[in-house]
Amino acid sequence: MSKTKPFPAIHGGCFCGSTRYRLECAPLFCHACHCQDCNKHTGSVFACFTTIEAEFISSIGKTPPKITRVARPNGISRHLASCGTCGTRLWASGDITPVTADINTGTLDLPEIMEPDVHEYIESKISWVLLPEGAKTCKGPFDYREYWPKSSLKRLEAAVQRAQERRKLLAKVAQAGQETEEEKEADKTPTAQTPDEKDGVVEDDEEFEKRYLETEKALQERLEQLSLRLNENEKVQGDDLRPGVVQPAKEPETAAEGQAPAATGPEN
Ligand SMILES: [Zn+2]
Ligand SMILES: [Zn+2]
Repeated sequence: MSKTKPFPAIHGGCFCGSTRYRLECAPLFCHACHCQDCNKHTGSVFACFTTIEAEFISSIGKTPPKITRVARPNGISRHLASCGTCGTRLWASGDITPVTADINTGTLDLPEIMEPDVHEYIESKISWVLLPEGAKTCKGPFDYREYWPKSSLKRLEAAVQRAQERRKLLAKVAQAGQETEEEKEADKTPTAQTPDEKDGVVEDDEEFEKRYLETEKALQERLEQLSLRLNENEKVQGDDLRPGVVQPAKEPETAAEGQAPAATGPEN
């Protein structure tokens, strides 16, 4: 059976190692945020998120993540997953919809392959945070409908649909007033399932195969992106770091002034 082959999964976890997770699918999108709220919230100079359907995060560590509900000024609360022992913040329910989760990219075992697809709130970027040549940026928040790849938008739609079906099922079962196996399935929080629990989810071999191939392809693309970047860096170092030679269009120092490089943001 195809499900026995090792999934090309991405792993991550907390600082102390007791809370670990695995992504059962390639991420939908990665973004960096340079807003002041994120800086305060993360205690860093910019935040980096890897977005995925919450149902595709499996808890595989000794301790399941601690889920906390946090009220936000806009009235919509968010679920935060963190390690109950060391307090590392692992992910939060997504801004767009709670069916997605924004993983703190730094908690991935290999954060290097998740280079941000866009840097938002570039206008408040700290001046000495330099972005790589060619990085996509935008002022204020990015619009996912504009920046996400079509395949990710399709996956989002499907995830929202699955969540609606789960809710409908729950309501139906609640009405019948009896707990069934289906209810147990539907009642699960979309985050923090163990792989064993996941085995109960109905996914036929064909769907698994599709997810497997898509994940493999997406990760391959990210790896290629990274190796391209590394090759470029090597070239830059080989060229005595003369900015005019390697980066004729834009010098990194310009970006350091907090200006958004033109022509890379959304054209509204
Ligand atoms: Zn921990
Ligand atoms: Zn932010």
